[in-house]
Amino acid sequence: MSHAVPRVEIRAAQQLKSLMRDYFLDLDAAACDADRRVAWCTSVGPCEILVAFGFATYFPENHGALLGAKRLSHQLIPYAVSAGYCAESCSYMNSDIGAALRGVSPLQDAYGIAGPPRPDLLVYSTNQCREVQDWWNFFGRRHDAPVLGICPPTHLGEITPAHVRFVRGELQALIERIEAHFGEKLDRDRLAEVVARSSAASTLWRRVLDTARARPAPISFWDGLIHMAPVILMRGSPAAVAYYETLLAEMQQRVRDRVGAVPHERFRVYWEGMPVWPRLRDLSDKCLELGVAVAASTYCNSWAFEDYSGGDPLEWMARASIAIFINRDEPTKQAFLLEMVRRFDLDGLIFHNARTCPNNTNSRFGMTQRLREDHGLAVLSVDGDLSDQRFFSTAQTMTNLEAFVEQLEVRRRPASSAVSQEVAG
Ligand code: SF4
Repeated sequence: MSHAVPRVEIRAAQQLKSLMRDYFLDLDAAACDADRRVAWCTSVGPCEILVAFGFATYFPENHGALLGAKRLSHQLIPYAVSAGYCAESCSYMNSDIGAALRGVSPLQDAYGIAGPPRPDLLVYSTNQCREVQDWWNFFGRRHDAPVLGICPPTHLGEITPAHVRFVRGELQALIERIEAHFGEKLDRDRLAEVVARSSAASTLWRRVLDTARARPAPISFWDGLIHMAPVILMRGSPAAVAYYETLLAEMQQRVRDRVGAVPHERFRVYWEGMPVWPRLRDLSDKCLELGVAVAASTYCNSWAFEDYSGGDPLEWMARASIAIFINRDEPTKQAFLLEMVRRFDLDGLIFHNARTCPNNTNSRFGMTQRLREDHGLAVLSVDGDLSDQRFFSTAQTMTNLEAFVEQLEVRRRPASSAVSQEVAG
């Protein structure tokens, strides 16, 4: 029988709610205002350029996640499939396309708006996957809006000056195409200001995540999935910077007061891969019950960019866009995970094999085996998906999590007690 363990709510969540409301209402207003323009952007795309041009920026992946969290995806994906999209392609993309075809959006109930804002421009970066290009092209055709993008080199080990120069050139070409299309010059000083704010929010976000190095961890992966919204949706805005200052202060106070996201923290683990949006509550409740703090994750760290300390803002953007985890080669990813295990003093790792996102799944090419055998780490691999709940078995995963925690318990026990238990057993 499961015991309900009370959560300690994060106070900043109230501020986040009104920030999100303001953001979506402003987007809706921008789409209805003849003097304003809306640009759609990928979540780790070049949004600073769009903000500096004065576009209101919208991120369809967030809508895909919302559709998953509201457990609507599995009903909407078949509409995308009937429009020719494979059922096993990205479930963010398929549910977002399905939602548009059906005229459905969680934004209707949440904010009383019709749905995503109509785009004047769609901009992507394939630094995360090629799916975004096809996804954006669907909506570009639907709204008769231009689709522009950059295609950085992928699966990088070392990042060389040549890589950065190449991507910088792509960003420069993107700016020139936007200028030509809309007949407006980009204000380069404004771009530097936006990049500085973007970096400031990102740095504060990284510091928030780093507070989870404390025992008990004041914030978990499950909280991070909610509180990371501004660093994606409002990157480059003063509001995002102010929000993370508040959140960081609260987390630092929690560390001083020894308040944990999991009140009786027993084990600390890493979550590798995409979240399982339709089952977040089930998973976080189970972790709470088992005393497991998911203290670090690849996903929440994906928006923790390097600091910008002045200089060429395009160079910072180029470097940030290719340095992200998803864009790196297998040895670099594995080294990053090992470093995270060390920094956050973790007992093990959970890998999520997301059926429709091979791009952000890292359990497919022997990494879990290598971490177990070469590094002696406890690793659990769970099958599921980011949005399509048909690929996720809650019962099976809960059983696997319980077995994993038993394994962590055995590993922690001193060798002599393990032996005596074996003898007694
Ligand atoms: S990275 Fe994965 S989840 Fe994100 S858009 Fe690409 S395929 Fe979809």
